[in-house]
Amino acid sequence: MSESPFADVAEQARAAPKAPVPQAARGPEIPEAGYVVEEIADGVFWVSEGMYQMMFVVTDEGVIAIDAPPTLGHHILRAIRGVTSRSITHVVYSHQHSDHVGAISVYPAEVPRYAHRITAERLALLRDPNRPLPTHVFDDTLTIDAGDHSLQLDYKGPNHAEGNIFIFAPTQRVLMLVDVIFPGWVPFSNLAVSANVPGFVNAHDQALEYPFEKLVGGHVTRPGTPGDVRMQIEYMNDLRSTTEAALSSVDLKKILAPVDAANVWAVFKAYLDAVAAQAADEVVPRWVERLGGADVFTLPNAWAMAEALRLDYGRMGPFGIAP
Ligand SMILES: [Zn+2]
Repeated sequence: MSESPFADVAEQARAAPKAPVPQAARGPEIPEAGYVVEEIADGVFWVSEGMYQMMFVVTDEGVIAIDAPPTLGHHILRAIRGVTSRSITHVVYSHQHSDHVGAISVYPAEVPRYAHRITAERLALLRDPNRPLPTHVFDDTLTIDAGDHSLQLDYKGPNHAEGNIFIFAPTQRVLMLVDVIFPGWVPFSNLAVSANVPGFVNAHDQALEYPFEKLVGGHVTRPGTPGDVRMQIEYMNDLRSTTEAALSSVDLKKILAPVDAANVWAVFKAYLDAVAAQAADEVVPRWVERLGGADVFTLPNAWAMAEALRLDYGRMGPFGIAP
């Protein structure tokens, strides 16, 4: 049997992540039950199994539940029952992705479900029985008033996904923004597989416009703070400036020497891989002791940043306007 042409890629993936996880990336121990529940503000509860997160708010009228990652599934109902006997009165979808709302059908079918209009449109196309359609949609902003508490839902344009919203509890100063801020960790691969990288970048500053004290990011090990947002902005700025410099400073002749010039995709791949590798070589040592997974996802994050710089921000490097 001949060896796979991608064997070296798989080998690199097995060999790469070696750095110890920094203290700032560690979260609470997960109890034997398989999930942890923390009251992060008055009546606002954070639930996690160590990789994914959801949030619920207990009001004097009932419970507002936001998202339902399948990895938490029925643990969510146990978590709610562990702190209140009130019924679930509202369900909110952060965005349409299955890893965050794929267990949304664990909530009672008759409860009103809120999402951005685009989220509802995407779900209508997907017809996933595990992701029933929202019953209430909005375009710009919607406030859920539930007894003594309210929840503000805002849409500021596409970021990680189209339809991904900011969810803010003003009294308790808690912001939920899923798949954008990863407290204690670098963003997930390829800048969180963002539908719109400039929107993803802008969402960092948009988050800081809210007067929040605690943040629920939907992923990884712990809740966050405004300090976590500022640290991720610092990482993103470093990634951007270092990748931008690499776009024009990589040695194109040397990179392309072994490449078949007739294979246009091979030429592009060699160039972008070299840009990402040069940027990651510089960025990783600056971050590996500050944020978890810097050694794992900085390379694909630099690759995504290189493409965003070229295509969105117009930094064309050696493929600029022909003389
Ligand atoms: Zn997502």
